[in-house]
Amino acid sequence: MEFFDAAEAWNRDHIQHVQVTRLRSTIAQARKCDFYRKRLDEAGITPESIRSVDDIQRIPFTTKQDLRDQYPMGLLTVPTRDIIRMHCSSGTTGTPVAICHTANDIKAWANLMARCMYMVGVRKEDVFQNMSGYGLFTGGLGIHYGAERLGCMTIPAGAGNTLRQIKLAMDFHTTVAHILPSYALIVGERLREMGQDPRELPLRIALVGAEPYTVEFRRRIEELFDMKVYNSYGLSEMNGPGVGFECTEQNGLHIWEDAYIPEIVDPETGKPVPDGEVGELVMTSLCRQGMPILRYRTRDLTRFIPGTCACGRLHRRMDRIVGRADDMFIVKGVNIYPMQIEQVIMTFKEVGQNYLIQLENDGLGDVLRVKVEIREEFFVEDMRKLRDIQSRIARRLRDEILVTPTIELVESNTLPLAEGKAVRVKDLRNPH
Ligand code: ADP
Ligand code: ZN
Repeated sequence: MEFFDAAEAWNRDHIQHVQVTRLRSTIAQARKCDFYRKRLDEAGITPESIRSVDDIQRIPFTTKQDLRDQYPMGLLTVPTRDIIRMHCSSGTTGTPVAICHTANDIKAWANLMARCMYMVGVRKEDVFQNMSGYGLFTGGLGIHYGAERLGCMTIPAGAGNTLRQIKLAMDFHTTVAHILPSYALIVGERLREMGQDPRELPLRIALVGAEPYTVEFRRRIEELFDMKVYNSYGLSEMNGPGVGFECTEQNGLHIWEDAYIPEIVDPETGKPVPDGEVGELVMTSLCRQGMPILRYRTRDLTRFIPGTCACGRLHRRMDRIVGRADDMFIVKGVNIYPMQIEQVIMTFKEVGQNYLIQLENDGLGDVLRVKVEIREEFFVEDMRKLRDIQSRIARRLRDEILVTPTIELVESNTLPLAEGKAVRVKDLRNPH
């Protein structure tokens, strides 16, 4: 096994030993800002009071609201002149929060990112095209620095402009790409429309993340381009990408426990859930100087995968994200996540690249309308066939979510495309 970083080979004892040491120094660092000093004093937490990793449970949670309240720089723990970069979260769920980094923070982050890429086989000989938005979004510069750290020829293509993406990939023989799942299918379809076979591109690996997507969606991207797709998880509050990443086993994302302490808690009680059960991911940064964050409630739902990974790394794995707690919607009293719907519709070969879940009220009650793009070759079929597709999708969905949806088949490329992360749900019901 080839490792980029010695930490990848650490055993559990060593990982935990380092975590305790780093948690203590992170607490000492965090106490340099008023917010954490007060919080930690109230809870009676000093660096010395931490004796084992489990002691982390005595530390109060940090929420997104706390970060918003401390915006812009309330959580700084170094003088401003030591900060060399700031980023913001995408603001998918409300007002953004700002995260500031020292030179060391940026270096450590680039190393983590390079570690992820090396793990799935990216090497300096690769040409890497970053198709994610740059600017404040961490998926741009964050991954860019990782790719340069590995020594890849790095193309900062940025998001959108599909024709230019395709031209760059062809002219420079891009072998590795970073791309949003929703955008990957769009690029592939565009190529097909141009009469090109996406499988003929030299692309062999894509790093795909930043928003939830299902195994079925991954399989589609892999088949469309004949390449391997690895799930990449991160959030601005914990730097950005490079927090959790799939290895070549493609069975869960290793969370780098030398740099973070992950916990999974019951969103209601805040208590740890039994191993293997789904709950809210809570993250603590262990290597950040500029703005350390303790026990951050990510609102992302996942579970730890029990057992050890065949790749030999002992850093714990989390399962792909089910969704954000905020993504859940209730229809006729049933709790539903968009990914439950995606998982079903993406198994139908007639279904194209995009879908939209629309929640309506018809005066009698909730209506769950799922608009599904159908591939061109099927849209020309006769009405009976379309009706048949429609009812098969409705039936399979009802079995999964226990609510009968209204399925609306629409032509390819007719549903709205998001600028950045996909918007899967539109709620048109009157707020009560
Ligand atoms: P925002 O929360 O405003 O979107 P970020 O750009 O920091 O801000 O995005 C981080 C969030 O993106 C995560 O908390 C998670 O909800 C989502 N995310 C990132 N990577 C993945 C992934 N691989 N799978 C599912 N969701 C992801
Ligand atoms: Zn592994």
